[in-house]
Amino acid sequence: MRQETKCIQSGYEPKNGEPRILPIIQSTTFKYTDSEAMARLFDLEDSGYFYTRLANPTNDTVAKKICDLEGGAAAMLTSSGQAANYFAVFNIAEAGDHIILTSSIYGGTFNLLTCTLKKQGIDCTVVDPEISPEELDKCFKENTKCVFSESVSNPSLIVLDFDKFVKAAHEHGVPMIVDNTFPTPINCRPFEYGVDIVTHSTTKYMDGHAMTVGGCIVDSGNFDWMKYPDKFPGLTKPDESYHGLVFAEKFGKAAYITKATAQLMRDLGSIQAPMNAFLLNVGLETLALRMERHVSNAQKVAEFLEANEKVAWVNYPGLKSNKYYDRAKKYMPNGTCGVISVGIKGGRAAAEKFMSNLKLAAVVTHVADARTCVLHPASHTHRQLTDEQLKDAGIAPEMIRLSVGIEHVDDIIEDLEAALNTI
Ligand code: PLP
Repeated sequence: MRQETKCIQSGYEPKNGEPRILPIIQSTTFKYTDSEAMARLFDLEDSGYFYTRLANPTNDTVAKKICDLEGGAAAMLTSSGQAANYFAVFNIAEAGDHIILTSSIYGGTFNLLTCTLKKQGIDCTVVDPEISPEELDKCFKENTKCVFSESVSNPSLIVLDFDKFVKAAHEHGVPMIVDNTFPTPINCRPFEYGVDIVTHSTTKYMDGHAMTVGGCIVDSGNFDWMKYPDKFPGLTKPDESYHGLVFAEKFGKAAYITKATAQLMRDLGSIQAPMNAFLLNVGLETLALRMERHVSNAQKVAEFLEANEKVAWVNYPGLKSNKYYDRAKKYMPNGTCGVISVGIKGGRAAAEKFMSNLKLAAVVTHVADARTCVLHPASHTHRQLTDEQLKDAGIAPEMIRLSVGIEHVDDIIEDLEAALNTI
């Protein structure tokens, strides 16, 4: 099936006489007729549902759709994008380990990986996304367990040099994890460029209507854990909490996701509510249609802004003037996303005035949904970052993040123009 068809048809396949629409299995628990059957589930001897803190059929059906869209082997939903990124890393790194991440990633993920994981004993090296291959090579240590980045960074819109990062990760025997929230699998399929694990904040384009917070982890199933038995003992050595089971041996391509479900969901419990998974699925049905419109609207808006005299600069990978134009065309030939960052002449004060005078575009802590919205990263999402970290993340004080929605593009442009005229 093509991506547009998968958005509609993947995941839920009702059998004869079953509901046409994905049912919400609004149940914390599942019934069994004998004790032994339940015991086998607890031992991971049989697969099946027993408690929604670990897994739920509605969630798994929606995860399967996202898995198909990404071209992966196994996937799971999480309660948020934060939980997805946390689980994705923590599933293979523990106290005493080290990870590498790019400086341009979303501020919340940056905090998670550089502060919270540090408190849990996981050290990190933050690298410039444009680091040379030689310098990147030097960042790896004996205890490095993964490289983490975003396919298109939020909000600096840096398009990842997949080849450089994937090559370095694999040369050092670790997986490459990429947060693919902004382009979504409609515009970018990181597994095709060698990435091993993909994460999403489904809160964004996938839901698309700002209804549900959620996340997803998809495993390509391609990373050979058994090749590095000492590096990834959680997957390659017996797990005492499951009577000596070895995840990579027993579950093959599904080992990483099974481990994350059986250990991390079991112990940390960040499951997505089945009701939210149902709503996410409704959003996913129109993902391909919406992404097309987001990209075409954003392109026109970016061109309008670039030509406006009140605007200092526009950052959108679809603009020929953009540093990442060629790279975006290489990895995301159909476009990147609907997010633009823009600097207004007159600095922070002018940016704030412009934002206050918008009528259609709302000021909200959100990005990547059907409605056009704006945010000031330096004073909102990234306010925990120091000036130096803001600079490294590519965030200027006057930067506005404009998330172009799917309204009629002329209405969006008229709103922007009217607000610019007030400065
Ligand atoms: N990853 C990216 C690229 C994001 O933009 C965000 C949130 O903005 C997250 C992860 C975190 O996701 P959530 O807000 O769903 O926890």
